[in-house]
Amino acid sequence: PRAKVADQACGVCGDLARGYHFNALTCEGCKSFFRRAIKRTTQLRCPFLNKCSITKNNRRSCQACRFRKCQDIGMRSGKSSSAHPGPRLPLNHEPHQCSNPGSSPRLNRYLL
Ligand SMILES: [Zn+2]
Ligand SMILES: [Zn+2]
Repeated sequence: PRAKVADQACGVCGDLARGYHFNALTCEGCKSFFRRAIKRTTQLRCPFLNKCSITKNNRRSCQACRFRKCQDIGMRSGKSSSAHPGPRLPLNHEPHQCSNPGSSPRLNRYLL
């Protein structure tokens, strides 16, 4: 069946979704929640077992699980790198520089 955008359920809480936000179908509430959550620097923590089922009625009760569910359904901020927490340095390849004498044209010029 062809999906209508108008009456879809939010992938996070099941409320009425108004369209795609941050790459996933969510309601307005979860959209703004996610926007706030990705700017947060402190870690959200679930007071229970990280297994809260988020519904339209209780979605405010556990931000940690709500945010986790946002990510579960594929929500992500504009930059794809923020989907993976944990810094990774891209600059640690090719540590050697001068181990190949003879192949550099600059070296040849000095030799002549
Ligand atoms: Zn929602
Ligand atoms: Zn929870």
